[in-house]
Amino acid sequence: MDFSLPDYVLERKQKAREYVENVLNPISPEMEEKEMLTDAVLDALKKTDFYGLTIPKEYGGQGWPMIDWFPVEEEWAKAYSMIRMLAHCMNGIFWRPLYIFGNEEGTGKNIVTTAKREGNEYVINGRKWLISFPWSQLLYVFAATPDGITGFLVDKGTPGLKVVAMPPMMGTLGVRHGEVLFENMRVPVDNVIGKVGQGLEVAYSALNLSRASIATCCVGNGDKLLELSIAYAKKRQTFGKPIASRQAIQWMLAEMGTQIKAARLMAYEAAWRCDNGLPFDKEASMAKVTAEEMIVDVAEKALRIHGGVGYTKTYPIERIFRDVRSFHFEEGTTEIQKLIISRNLLEE
Ligand SMILES: Cc1cc2nc3c(=O)[nH]c(=O)nc-3n(C[C@H](O)[C@H](O)[C@H](O)COP(=O)(O)OP(=O)(O)OC[C@H]3O[C@@H](n4cnc5c(N)ncnc54)[C@H](O)[C@@H]3O)c2cc1C
Repeated sequence: MDFSLPDYVLERKQKAREYVENVLNPISPEMEEKEMLTDAVLDALKKTDFYGLTIPKEYGGQGWPMIDWFPVEEEWAKAYSMIRMLAHCMNGIFWRPLYIFGNEEGTGKNIVTTAKREGNEYVINGRKWLISFPWSQLLYVFAATPDGITGFLVDKGTPGLKVVAMPPMMGTLGVRHGEVLFENMRVPVDNVIGKVGQGLEVAYSALNLSRASIATCCVGNGDKLLELSIAYAKKRQTFGKPIASRQAIQWMLAEMGTQIKAARLMAYEAAWRCDNGLPFDKEASMAKVTAEEMIVDVAEKALRIHGGVGYTKTYPIERIFRDVRSFHFEEGTTEIQKLIISRNLLEE
């Protein structure tokens, strides 16, 4: 077993880190203020290796295996949350169901949206809230059909598709989550992903990897919070000594570093299993639970180490503290991950 990262991965990691720090961070506050993805950020993302890194080469991507992507994703996750979310969606989830279940011609389980076949079309009715990037060009829609759940690929301009903005969020500003409504929306049968009734498999083909990817994003954020905390603890003096010399602070740093490392190793194992075609739903959920609990604790400790100034908007801790709370919900809550883990354990 080799725990070292190859040189080419370390180089990509370093390049992403420098791009985030030097190019993206200076132009990102505007995105937070306006609560939208700005042209400046979009243009900057187009100039670097950001999109389609994990998409197979035959479909125009760079074909990185997940075990090469995750260490680099950690660096993108240190960017503002909107960029982290894009990196995760573009390289972690979006392409995969189409690759596994799509065909060359076209391509919360508790689902209340329905799809009824009429000739060569499906008529879809229903709604789903809390959707990230709801104004995207293409949406995955899962609906109940007589044969079970079915996945559809839906174009943004399809008549009957409406998006309503959600109330402002606590963090991840700029993503502009929305509620998506389907009112007699007609979708050609060719837009069914995979087979009719195969929707849960389609969803899981994205979700397992996506959960491990979210764990990796937690690790990146954890690293960032630890870096900021170490720098602050060395600088801040109380009673004539840097707070880094106090055992109370040292223990917090030690716990943060240990928790981050544990989550990273679990996420990497899920990536490795995915690359090798092994089942990894349990490992992905375990990584996500561990990483999500880690990031809440690490963010809390980072805030405590920074003291009162950490609560001001002068320091990035305040923003990151809010942003990382969304990890609990993305790709299923901790409670749902535990259901998946226990189901696996009981069946083994
Ligand atoms: C920032 C953000 C981005 C999101 N992006 C998307 C997206 O792009 N696409 C998308 O489809 N969704 C998205 N979501 C929605 C997200 O997947 C849901 O919020 C999450 O699955 C929880 O569902 P819910 O909010 O309806 O909570 P509920 O289902 O109402 O859950 C409330 C509580 O009950 C618990 N619970 C629910 N059911 C069970 C059960 N069976 N057993 C035990 N406990 C249970 C939950 O864990 C939670 O603690 C996003 C959410 C957020 C916050």
